[in-house]
Amino acid sequence: MEVFKDVTSLQSYLKNIGKSQTIGFVPTMGALHEGHLSIVEKALKENDIVVVSIYVNPTQFNNKTDLRKYPKNIRKDLSYLKNYGCHAVFTPTTEEIYNDTVAATSFNFNGLATVMEGKYRPGHFDGVATVVKKLFEIVKPHNAYFGEKDYQQIRIIQQLVKQEKIAVNIIPCPIVREPSGLAMSSRNKRLDETQLREAANIFQTLIGVRLNYKSMPIADLKEAVSKYFSKQKHLSLEYFEIADIDTLKPASKIEKGKKYRAFIAAYADKVRLIDNIDLA
Ligand code: AMP
Repeated sequence: MEVFKDVTSLQSYLKNIGKSQTIGFVPTMGALHEGHLSIVEKALKENDIVVVSIYVNPTQFNNKTDLRKYPKNIRKDLSYLKNYGCHAVFTPTTEEIYNDTVAATSFNFNGLATVMEGKYRPGHFDGVATVVKKLFEIVKPHNAYFGEKDYQQIRIIQQLVKQEKIAVNIIPCPIVREPSGLAMSSRNKRLDETQLREAANIFQTLIGVRLNYKSMPIADLKEAVSKYFSKQKHLSLEYFEIADIDTLKPASKIEKGKKYRAFIAAYADKVRLIDNIDLA
């Protein structure tokens, strides 16, 4: 496995890849867990060469403490990726990605970025789209893999490649969970045992929503979810929405023929967690 810190050396490696070979790309912020590794595994099955990037992108953090406390473990990450058979890892510095101007471009994603995560983390998706666009320009992958844990992010990247006319297939990958149902996340490393136990209730709530959303008005579901969270010791709810899977517009009632997902963002004390579930 090759590890590259700069664009020039990564691109000279990629130049030697045959014209008929495919490049699969998995962008990450490191502190890798089985969720990331399941994506790498899928990319390895579907491509000749797999490039993983590990880069904690400052422009997508609207909260400086969250950025400062973001878990890092580059040695372990590289050893996992090597064991999985990954071909190349890109671990750039911020200078390499942004040169002198560490700033996000402003995008308009037709309302996809102004709800849910976009509403509570202003500027987050501009930062994500900026770095993903730069990484796509550097790696020029045929296929790029993203986890459905960040479902809104997937919709935004799909919109980004459409409006910027970037030639890459965006491949969504299923959410990988702990045995408790808690969605795996690098941020889980910041939780103690009690917080982890309570955080599993985020997924239990989503399961409950899936069981009841056809028979209960959304306003009543929202009230029930909010009441349930208010009884938790360590969890506090930031938002709960049922949204159209394409437009991401939060729904106030279920309409026939449309498809929905339920979304939650919650804090386990100071650690922000998100999750979502398909309501098909
Ligand atoms: P991150 O390092 O958090 O930026 O995540 C890198 C990629 O891994 C993103 O596409 C995430 O959606 C995906 N990912 C993170 N956690 C999970 C999970 N539990 N299951 C599936 N994909 C995940």
